[in-house]
Amino acid sequence: MSKEYDVVVIGAGPAGYVAAIRAAQLGMNVVCIDKWLNLDDKPSLGGTCLNAGCIPSKALLESSELYHRANHEFATHGLKVGDVEMDIAQMQKRKAGVVKELTGGIASLFKANGVESLAGSGQVVDSGEVKYTSHDGDEQTIKTENIIIASGSIPVELDIAPFDGELIVDSWGALEFDEVPKKVGVIGAGYIGVELGSVWSRLGAEVTLLEAVEDFMPIADRDVAKEALKTFKKQGLDIQLGARVTSAKTNKKSVRVEYTQGDENKSETFDRLIVAVGRRPNTANLCAKGAQVELDDKGFVDTDDFYRTSLPGVYAVGDVVGNPMLAHKGMEEGVTVAEILAGQKPHVNYDAIPSVVYTTPELAWVGKSEAQVKAAGIDYRVGQIPFAANGRAKALGQQGGFVKMIADAQTDEILGVHMIGPYVSELVQEMVVAMEYKASSEDIARIMHGHPTLSETVHEAALAVDGRPIHF
Ligand code: FAD
Repeated sequence: MSKEYDVVVIGAGPAGYVAAIRAAQLGMNVVCIDKWLNLDDKPSLGGTCLNAGCIPSKALLESSELYHRANHEFATHGLKVGDVEMDIAQMQKRKAGVVKELTGGIASLFKANGVESLAGSGQVVDSGEVKYTSHDGDEQTIKTENIIIASGSIPVELDIAPFDGELIVDSWGALEFDEVPKKVGVIGAGYIGVELGSVWSRLGAEVTLLEAVEDFMPIADRDVAKEALKTFKKQGLDIQLGARVTSAKTNKKSVRVEYTQGDENKSETFDRLIVAVGRRPNTANLCAKGAQVELDDKGFVDTDDFYRTSLPGVYAVGDVVGNPMLAHKGMEEGVTVAEILAGQKPHVNYDAIPSVVYTTPELAWVGKSEAQVKAAGIDYRVGQIPFAANGRAKALGQQGGFVKMIADAQTDEILGVHMIGPYVSELVQEMVVAMEYKASSEDIARIMHGHPTLSETVHEAALAVDGRPIHF
């Protein structure tokens, strides 16, 4: 290939494909290389998020939630559906269809924006030079002004529980079961663990989550985490905290897991074991020997505030540069790096990144937790309102949970908002906008919210910061 590019993007996950499209919109000549192969061994754009993460997990969460509701909630609405039959093959087919439409959509977006797409691996050889290797093994050197690394992350594998793709699986494997296992073990009760655990539990599996840390969901506000733990346990998820797995041994049919909890040695046998203990940066073979792209002590690509790596003309964005490993964080960085290359002065506000856990009820938050505000020595006020005081939540039959707003006691600026309840994944976005504009709780309290909507709980929480809620 003799053609020269303005930008070569390595990786077509949320960070990479967005960077490629934005750079092309800004008039740059862009090629995006991605090596992902789907289960049919076909190249598929969209990275982890579209192929094996955000999208397929949400598709199965929806199907499993509907099954659960049909069995347990329809009757209270006066709907008698008799025995609800489950068709896992159809459920998986629907999920695969959603993934196919969206990954194919990226191919169309590339075409529409003039982004060239190459299936295979990219390797940084030096500033301005990338080696491309197709899936057939053909190699080409590509010359380019700039390189954007967006190679993402991969699941952490445990030596004591290596993946075998059958009985011990990673998060992608856990989205592909073709029948409901009777007993499922999950190592790790982070957001991926509880989402996957919820899917299989709603479909009838007995699910046990083994979490080494004593606190449940340490990244969430303690009140939200406490409510979530109580609710998930009530739903039947067996969540064991402070449980350190020491070994996982398979025979042809099951996995025997040994773990310690406090002073006790315990063991449990599962039909399938999901390992969801985190993700690590995907940097294997990313750079040729001698290409000086430095990594930090955790293996993430080291960048400065402008996403520049240690090698001139080489940038990095998305999961490969570090936490939070979230698709929307990667997308914002993708847009930003492209605009920097075009000479603009964009900015990512890392203080206003929404976090969501897509269980039922959902968990969502933005900004600082109460513990973080306290640790920072800030004088603050809290307004907390339960969804039980909200008409729409009652009509939905989903009145568990609450909205908790934390504001600076002196300036009233909103410092963090933490929610657990119905569709809080959508509600949190109002708070992201509010925090982006440095809104006060009074600003939100004085904004009219439609009735009856779940967002009224956000409104009431803002009123509650000043001790004047109307409906609670
Ligand atoms: P990735 O999506 O990992 O994409 C990197 C791409 O680069 C891949 O296609 C890879 O094949 C390719 N690549 C790597 N090296 C090379 C190379 N040398 N040459 C060519 N190609 C290469 N995040 C959310 O925000 N919301 C969610 O609800 C959510 N749910 C998730 C559920 C699960 C089960 C999992 C596992 C993750 C979830 N995530 C979620 C996280 C989200 O998937 C990641 O944060 C996101 O995909 C990161 O985007 P990225 O572009 O940085 O990397």
